[in-house]
Amino acid sequence: MGNMKTVWDNPAEIIRHLQPENPVMVFAPTVLQARARSFVEGFPGLVTYAVKSNPEEAVIENLVTAGISGFDVASPAEIDLIGRMAPRAARHYHNPVRSRAEIAQAIEAKILAWSVDSRSELDKLLDAVPVEFDGKGVEISPRFKLPVMGAIYDFGSKFGATPEYAAEMLKLVADRGYIPSLTFHPGTQCTDPIAWESYIHVAKEICDMAGVKAHRLNVGGGFPSHRVAGVEPDLTSIFTEIGETVAESFGTDAPDLVCEPGRGLCADAFSLITRVKAVRDGMAVFLNDGVYGGLAELPIVGNLDRIEVLDPQGRPRGGDVTGRIIFGPTCDSVDRLPGELPLPADVVEGDYVIFHGAGAYSVVTNTRFNGFGAMGHATVMNL
Ligand SMILES: *Cc1c(COP(=O)(O)O)cnc(C)c1O
Repeated sequence: MGNMKTVWDNPAEIIRHLQPENPVMVFAPTVLQARARSFVEGFPGLVTYAVKSNPEEAVIENLVTAGISGFDVASPAEIDLIGRMAPRAARHYHNPVRSRAEIAQAIEAKILAWSVDSRSELDKLLDAVPVEFDGKGVEISPRFKLPVMGAIYDFGSKFGATPEYAAEMLKLVADRGYIPSLTFHPGTQCTDPIAWESYIHVAKEICDMAGVKAHRLNVGGGFPSHRVAGVEPDLTSIFTEIGETVAESFGTDAPDLVCEPGRGLCADAFSLITRVKAVRDGMAVFLNDGVYGGLAELPIVGNLDRIEVLDPQGRPRGGDVTGRIIFGPTCDSVDRLPGELPLPADVVEGDYVIFHGAGAYSVVTNTRFNGFGAMGHATVMNL
């Protein structure tokens, strides 16, 4: 099954009609647009999409339609993708470490917003990047980090300067005539607004240390998707908390706000249809997809537990739920989902397991390892 032109009602209809042998990633554009609008209307600042979480062209198109006007890009390929698909959109090159060749390509693309987390990388920018393109000022945002709190996955261990170091860089950026701003990324799938609060307070301290008023504060991504059955993330209260914390900390010096959600925007607009290859001796369940495919990030961020099990006619299995060990199709023993997944007791070979909320870090990290990974794509009205 390749790219389906048809728009289906829902994943069950696809199963009933096609009984797909390969995994199918199912996309609901209306869900993506609704989520994008709730960010654009609810977040008290500019919403930029972190392209790495799902760079499918259909995603970019639907986000632009829904009013997303900025993108967080991390490589020349992502810069080109957005330049081609959303030529009027802002591109923030917020990967703080770049080769000189990558910097040259981004200068060619007249990138107006850059982040850095170290003197060596800032010096590369100061050497090469003009302070303006066509009369528009170039912004450089030192990225700072704090000990992790509230996130499932610690991005701080790879990127981010200490607050003192960020203050030094902020001052240098301002002295050299660039627009001084600050950025941080609290981690991913942060369900508690506390993840942003301490960062925002420290952003104000950094400005005071540097004696510089930050033009903008980018509060990163990390907005949660709906991964756990019955626990729907409350984006509105996260947005409110961020706005109030900024007003409280900065008062009249409040910087303009930017956020760069990946997962929070795209994840819930996709579901992954997988098929049960075997229920080995009635116990372990082998699926046709796993950690080398569309479920790549589960060992790092935990199971997607919004699942449905359907028979080949698209009817839900209804037996009592028991925990099962789930293996993917490859011969590698790490190809196993974390812990156990609650599946109905009557699940049998040939059934389908649908993982909802599967749109982030899945399509883009799917591999062909061991000859698997032939992922189909389909569009639906509802998930
Ligand atoms: C990956 C990344 C994001 C998006 O993270 P999500 O958890 O998917 O929202 C945002 N900003 C930066 C700098 C990133 O590296």
